[in-house]
Amino acid sequence: MTRSYKHLFGPVPSRRFGRSLGIDLTPFKTCSYDCIFCQLGHTTRHTLERKNYVDVAETLAEIEHWLENDGKADQITLAGSGEPTLHAGFGEILWFIKARTKIPVAVLTNGSMLYLPEVRKAAAMADIVKISLSAWDQQSLETINRPAPGYRFEQLIDGEKQFRDEFKGQLWIEVFMLDGINTTPAEVAKIATLVKQIRPDRVQLNTCVRPPAEESARAVPENKLRELATIFEPAAEIIAEYRAAKGGEVKVNEQAILEMLQRRPCTASQISEVFGMHLNEVSKYLGMLTRSEQITATHRNNDVYYFAQKSQAC
Ligand code: SF4
Repeated sequence: MTRSYKHLFGPVPSRRFGRSLGIDLTPFKTCSYDCIFCQLGHTTRHTLERKNYVDVAETLAEIEHWLENDGKADQITLAGSGEPTLHAGFGEILWFIKARTKIPVAVLTNGSMLYLPEVRKAAAMADIVKISLSAWDQQSLETINRPAPGYRFEQLIDGEKQFRDEFKGQLWIEVFMLDGINTTPAEVAKIATLVKQIRPDRVQLNTCVRPPAEESARAVPENKLRELATIFEPAAEIIAEYRAAKGGEVKVNEQAILEMLQRRPCTASQISEVFGMHLNEVSKYLGMLTRSEQITATHRNNDVYYFAQKSQAC
């Protein structure tokens, strides 16, 4: 990217999507859910309210600038720091992208807002919509996804089914499996039955190979996840990045951030600027370092500063 943008990030290499330009339509952790497995930590704005969380004209101007000055990506993805369909103007943004470029567009959504006709109509402009379903009833939804108050499991299921009926593009479902929480054969069979009724083009199984929001969210071992995948129709693919989680890059980035914080306390935005990483990525590493008690956070002048436990906070 030739300049830094407020609402665009990447294009980042993605195993699933190739080089993907991300568009972030919400302030950090604005979500209708507060999933126990969320890698971005706890939801800070827990809401079902749809509004223009970021300015539409400003976002369109950034997309236009990117298309004119770079414009090379395998995919454009609406995703980021929260739930993109909470943005009341995400349809306008999708419409603009579809009118301006042939690059395929994906929306990564938890599916919670698809019960609203206007959200289904807007999302249907995308080429790929990836929704999620990791629960089988109200109680399991409350345990795993912790929706904003008043949200009902039926809204999720009805919305996802209705969307399938109306959407002509690729519909993918991600099922997030958590050891001991939604992984008995009976529980998985209930989720698989619902998935079958929704009729997605692909089913993808994931688990928390990286540190989640809550310690109770534990990863399912790879061989067990492979067994559970056979319960789904169509057969589920495993997308959990077991090898990447064990690999070097995470450790290197974690270490680099830790070393920086040992020299001086910084905010997440400062780290993001120095390393050229998206705030989401930085937040994952800060979450890992905080949970392993290598760093801690403190409020100063309306900002949150992180510092290493051994460093001298000034
Ligand atoms: S995992 Fe997705 S849906 Fe769940 S809290 Fe995080 S951002 Fe929201």
